[in-house]
Amino acid sequence: MDCLFCKIINKEIPSQIVYEDNDILAFNDIAPKAPVHILIIPKKHISSHAELGEFDAELMGKIHMVINKIAREKGILESGYRVIINCGEDGGQEVKHLHFHLLGGKKLEINM
Ligand code: 5GP
Ligand code: ZN
Repeated sequence: MDCLFCKIINKEIPSQIVYEDNDILAFNDIAPKAPVHILIIPKKHISSHAELGEFDAELMGKIHMVINKIAREKGILESGYRVIINCGEDGGQEVKHLHFHLLGGKKLEINM
């Protein structure tokens, strides 16, 4: 499958990995919009938030715990952060593999 983030998961394309386990990968965004800008993705290819199924509930819960852990490690748990999912054309999704943006380390604008 020709998917950029699957290639990052398979290490065919290099990335700066922040966290990895059997189900989840987190890596620095290539064009950061804040001092902390990390993408958290399921290793399973899910093309967008709209494609989630009931069997993905546990995985989605786990992703949020990983985001929380990374926020703690990056020192932004208390200063605050934003988690964004862009979905589909109107949502501005460019890469068609579900990903969570973790942004922080500065006072974020309302419009990202
Ligand atoms: P979207 O607009 O789909 O929600 O976000 C896609 C994100 O992926 C963008 O923030 C973009 O900077 C990031 N991105 C695109 N290509 C690459 C890449 O090759 N490596 C990394 N690390 N991030 C990428
Ligand atoms: Zn993929």
